[in-house]
Amino acid sequence: MEPFELADRPKEECGIVGIYSPGHEAARFAFFGLFALQHRGQEAAGIAVSDGAQVRMHKDTGLVSQVFNEEILQSLPGEMAVGHTRYSTTGASVLRNAQPIYCQSIVGDIAIAHNGNLINARQLREAMEADGEVFETTSDTELMARILVKNMERGPEHAVAEVMKQVQGAYSCVVLTPKVVIGFRDPTGIRPLTAGRLGAGYMVASETCAFGPVSGVPEHELAPGEMAIIDKDGMRIACGAPSKRQAMCLFEFIYFARPDSHIYGTLLYAARENMGRNLAKEHPVKADIVVPVPDSGIPAAHGYSEESGIPYREGMMKSRYIHRTFIAPDQRMRELGVRMKLTPLLEHLWGKRVVLVDDSIVRGTTTKQIVKLLFESGASEVHVRITAPPIMHPCFYGIDMASKGELAAAQMTIPDLCKYIGATTLGFLTIDGAVGAVGKGKGHFCLACFNGDYPIPVPIKVKKNAFDDPPDVGQMAAFSGHTTPG
Ligand code: SF4
Repeated sequence: MEPFELADRPKEECGIVGIYSPGHEAARFAFFGLFALQHRGQEAAGIAVSDGAQVRMHKDTGLVSQVFNEEILQSLPGEMAVGHTRYSTTGASVLRNAQPIYCQSIVGDIAIAHNGNLINARQLREAMEADGEVFETTSDTELMARILVKNMERGPEHAVAEVMKQVQGAYSCVVLTPKVVIGFRDPTGIRPLTAGRLGAGYMVASETCAFGPVSGVPEHELAPGEMAIIDKDGMRIACGAPSKRQAMCLFEFIYFARPDSHIYGTLLYAARENMGRNLAKEHPVKADIVVPVPDSGIPAAHGYSEESGIPYREGMMKSRYIHRTFIAPDQRMRELGVRMKLTPLLEHLWGKRVVLVDDSIVRGTTTKQIVKLLFESGASEVHVRITAPPIMHPCFYGIDMASKGELAAAQMTIPDLCKYIGATTLGFLTIDGAVGAVGKGKGHFCLACFNGDYPIPVPIKVKKNAFDDPPDVGQMAAFSGHTTPG
């Protein structure tokens, strides 16, 4: 149920924060950090805190601002916290799989929150169940929690290293014990995680945009396989698992991460502007105006406009104050489709040859509706330009995209897709154009959904099922053994 969002988008799975704020209530910092990470998940949110002896937690379905209020934050005392905001695919499982996940261990209660998706969860879970372990959720985060608990005897740092040794897949996580916060990142570094200062304390967060609202200062983007151990003695960076290949998700640069975040030291807004410039070089066209699909297409549309010399104009206004709602639209409203979210500016569009810049095409359904909207608003031509290369393969690393059968670019030639969406012309940025816009070599990225080169080998059974007939990520998770991604 997402009546007020552009539906045909890959969906990020989670945002995480870890806080140590000596002399201050950490829950409040975690709240504002999560608030800045709301774009990474809008289905559920949670915060666990430690007062040095006891770990307490509150989590529920809804936006961060719906899940927490003053009273709840005051019931969460302590200088250490971890928090999570979650995207999920199905209603019933949302609360049960909401995070952080809480467990008891010999060092006291622990909580863990996770962004990513494990690919060997089924095997690990079956082995643990054969040993008598009973799982309460279908979340692969619980699996990590239980590995942590089993290995806490030698301390939290060792337990985290053991998790990193056993699990395979994409994960950036935060763990809270009564006395320590640990952030860690998988050895391939698929999901982002940055550590930094927070007054006299420290924090880690999925994106650097979470630091600003709490006056934190991002200092160190965790390298693949690294962990940041934070306690009253300070912050220490250590290797949790050796890294063989660095493969940051290219989609973080194209769409997921907020444009004011930095990854690989690059401002995402600047990377997206560069993508727009490269798109103009690769797919030039004679037109009157460059129009973004708001908001995600804005930086690239500026880049396209600068490179091509075609003026930038806003062609649609997005509803700014209606975010995700729990009120379902009725059938007639559903049929209005994008008109519920985007209002065309007729005066800007009438009689114009339009370059429409967007970040991606998944199923093609939303793009088709937007193109129709522009023609109905008087555009004489609509040239669609997309900053993501064609998406040809499913994602196994925590992004809800679509099955191969639903991916428009995997099912049609580009001329056929152009016809399907009703555009005058259609151009996708190449992988080289997208990677070049970030200023790092191809070897630094996961490009699997574009070129099928999976940086962490996906078991053949999981892959086969997903390629044959997986209608959604929920099923894909089931094929991969369990679970809902974090
Ligand atoms: S497959 Fe695509 S969406 Fe998934 S991690 Fe790789 S680049 Fe990102």
